[in-house]
Amino acid sequence: MQTTPALARLGTESAFSVLARAAELQAAGRDIVNLGIGQPDFPTPENIVEAGVKALRDGHHGYTPAKGIAPLREAVAADIAARRGVEVDPGRILIMPGGKPTMFFAISMVGQPGAEIVYPDPGFPIYRSMIGYSGATPVPVSPREEDGFGYRAADILDRITPRTRLLILNSPNNPTGGVMTRAETDALVAGLEDWPEVAVLSDEIYSRMLYDGRDHVSLLGYPSLADRLIVLDGWSKTYAMTGWRLGYSVWPEALVDAAERLCVNNHSCVNAATQYAGIEALTGPQDAVDAMMAAFARRRRLIVDLLNAVPGVRCPEPGGAFYVFPNIEGTGMNGRDLQVRLLEEAGVAAIAGSSFGDTAEGNIRFSYANSEENIRTAIDRMRGLLA
Ligand code: PLP
Repeated sequence: MQTTPALARLGTESAFSVLARAAELQAAGRDIVNLGIGQPDFPTPENIVEAGVKALRDGHHGYTPAKGIAPLREAVAADIAARRGVEVDPGRILIMPGGKPTMFFAISMVGQPGAEIVYPDPGFPIYRSMIGYSGATPVPVSPREEDGFGYRAADILDRITPRTRLLILNSPNNPTGGVMTRAETDALVAGLEDWPEVAVLSDEIYSRMLYDGRDHVSLLGYPSLADRLIVLDGWSKTYAMTGWRLGYSVWPEALVDAAERLCVNNHSCVNAATQYAGIEALTGPQDAVDAMMAAFARRRRLIVDLLNAVPGVRCPEPGGAFYVFPNIEGTGMNGRDLQVRLLEEAGVAAIAGSSFGDTAEGNIRFSYANSEENIRTAIDRMRGLLA
């Protein structure tokens, strides 16, 4: 069979292969602590589950509009107004099957041979994968460890050329937990005024996951970007709904029809009951989210302290998300070797930094979406392995 060269350029997300290997070892009777996969260890809150069940019982079994049901798009607009202080017309909001399809759509709309796309490295691996698939040239930009992995505007603006068609941002960031400050974001947006041809994809999927009183700085708050900004967010992380497949994106007016056509061609619509559950998530009580974030805050302190006490390991305290991204070069191992040995010999799943780009071979990502007891066990085992 002859397939396209583009297919050979498509990458993957190794968290899924580590998850599969961890499950295999578990099935063979091994005790595995999983700090690999990026999903909350909490169940979806009961009120949201009930709303999904009720929607099924009420007969919501058919297609919905490709953009998503109107009450959900209105609930998203109200949530954006309340949390980001910005009025967005629900007509510009598309309900998507998770966060990922927005990346796929946005990158395929502007990515083509000759175009450059600036993206975070280390970063969510699907950005790099999709840029390669589109034929565009990937242009990585990296944060600095001494800034707690927050991006500097100047580092990003340095990468932009007359061929740049898209800039991808992700704050709070996966895999580093880094957060871009308001001052750096202001400077970036000011610099982008010189580059009106550059569209921006702001992946804000961790917008509710910030620590120590930090505010979320949404790119939606900058009117000068309104006609070229795509914002990605969703329910997966905030409401522990990764398996429901529910996300949304805000599109500039000029791209709404194209994005809707891509939905029609790709998935028709998100399943109806999930959309009703999404309304309850946004409009119902938020205490489960608050409780989950309080647990993550405690675990973050714990894992950072435990890691910094391991010889050869240096771990900045992340400002957001639920990942730490320690530098482990001092152990004499790279991230890939440590990932394999941690899983196979010590029964701890984590993801090598090299899975998130070319600039982080000396790092490894731990997700602290696991109990304090399991976090202690995992880092004890790592210490034992390295001793
Ligand atoms: N964006 C980032 C930065 C992520 O880390 C993830 C998931 O890990 C996603 C998007 C994808 O989210 P979803 O599972 O809703 O597709």
